[in-house]
Amino acid sequence: MKIDGKTRLIGLIGNPVEHTLSPVIHNGISERMQCASVYVPFKVEEVGLAQAVQGAYELNILGMNVTVPHKNQVIESLVDIDEAAKKIGAVNTLVRMDSLKGYKGYNTDMLGLRRQILEDGISLKDKTVVILGAGGAAKAVVYMCLLEQANKIYLLNRTKEKADAIAESMNETATEMFSDVMGKLEEDEKTICCKRIIPMALADYHKILEEDLIVFQATSIGLSPNVENVVLEDAAFYQKVQIGVDLIYNPANTKFMQLVTEHGGKAYNALKMLLYQGVIAYELWHDIKVPQDIIEDIYTDLKRCVYPKDNIVLIGFMGSGKTTVGVELAKRMNMNFIDTDAYIEEKAGKSITDIFAQDGEEAFRMLETEVLITLRDTVSNTVFSTGGGMPLRAENAGLLKEIGKVFYLTAANQVIYNRVKDNTKRPLLQGENPYGKICELMKQRKPLYEAAADVLVDTNSNNLEEVIQAIQNEL
Ligand code: NAP
Repeated sequence: MKIDGKTRLIGLIGNPVEHTLSPVIHNGISERMQCASVYVPFKVEEVGLAQAVQGAYELNILGMNVTVPHKNQVIESLVDIDEAAKKIGAVNTLVRMDSLKGYKGYNTDMLGLRRQILEDGISLKDKTVVILGAGGAAKAVVYMCLLEQANKIYLLNRTKEKADAIAESMNETATEMFSDVMGKLEEDEKTICCKRIIPMALADYHKILEEDLIVFQATSIGLSPNVENVVLEDAAFYQKVQIGVDLIYNPANTKFMQLVTEHGGKAYNALKMLLYQGVIAYELWHDIKVPQDIIEDIYTDLKRCVYPKDNIVLIGFMGSGKTTVGVELAKRMNMNFIDTDAYIEEKAGKSITDIFAQDGEEAFRMLETEVLITLRDTVSNTVFSTGGGMPLRAENAGLLKEIGKVFYLTAANQVIYNRVKDNTKRPLLQGENPYGKICELMKQRKPLYEAAADVLVDTNSNNLEEVIQAIQNEL
């Protein structure tokens, strides 16, 4: 990352901050958009919070994220606050306002979750929503449910008093939000309308009678490493759940999510909430729109950080040595070996040539994507040799990175030609001018291989030992 006199600082204040994933998001966007800003975490004690915010302003810092335990207290140090953040009572993003000589506070956690559910096609309009938990995150969820016009919001918490307090303030907010509707209602209807949020003790969950619930799991139960824990276990509850969103994203498939899917519902974790709260903050700081392809790349980076995989993925053109290197590498490192083409043939029950001939290339690429998703979710300690066209689809390139560290085995066109010219099984080489075809295809594929790879490994020497050593050096 280039740092010069024009580079602006953005960052995070909280305590602790050591495990934050935000640098992956913000520095990742800056690098990809060639934006001159750098994101750094700052550990700030509660006693020094006001000075930290003031100092940040004096240091010309463009913007800050705020995390635990400062999300509420920081409000005292702001010159302005966004309406939603004010109602939620928590700020996680500070945006520099030179005209006011300070920062304006926003709650992009709420906006991030909202963007996630919209992207996942979840509509809350006129639905009954259940929120499990009444901590800081739950309050943002309640506000989002109001924005999205949920019909009724049950707020369930172990400590009922906390649910009562949130319901009281948020029901007032609901009344304000829907004041235009309220004006047209009869008195008894008004009572129903402004009682949208219903606080309950967690133990009373069986009193919810509605079906087709949309449930947000906003407690800290089930967070890694306590992955077997869940806040509610009763099958009778899960039978009513149509959609479950767990605000926890580690593990990727929480016990809560498993129970939702086991009973026929759809389940989501909230890694995208984390992604989008960051993207929205970045957009506010830089006054730009982050393009969707960059957002998808950042999402892949986040998944790789949160769910690291120990697999090795070899990509490259035919004749680059993926299978030879892969088999030997797996043997030496005591890992398993999978050739994705062979795996696909086994799954499909026919050869790749037949899949191409009978179903077309697009069907084959779809199959590749399906197989990659399965492999990502199930396989570890494995070396993969992939088909030469695997990274051509952007989605596949992202999936390969989620599966493991990706090595592109490179070789000059002439070297590749020499290696494969006597191979009678390759259809590509059967026509006229195979060398010309290799050159043509390589021109198209090389940038895609490079974009999909973490590491480039030169195989021109034809020396297996050297290639294996180069890969092992990077592990
Ligand atoms: P918080 O303010 O500490 O609240 C914790 C909640 O969990 C409270 O409702 C608490 O109930 C409940 N809880 C804790 N232990 C419990 C137990 N043994 N049984 C029943 N309930 C229990 O935390 P938060 O900031 O709201 O965060 C909640 C979750 O959301 C965390 O797991 C956090 O990682 C996640 N989160 C995710 C994102 C994202 O970007 N995806 C963003 C923010 C938060 P009591 O009130 O009774 O103690």
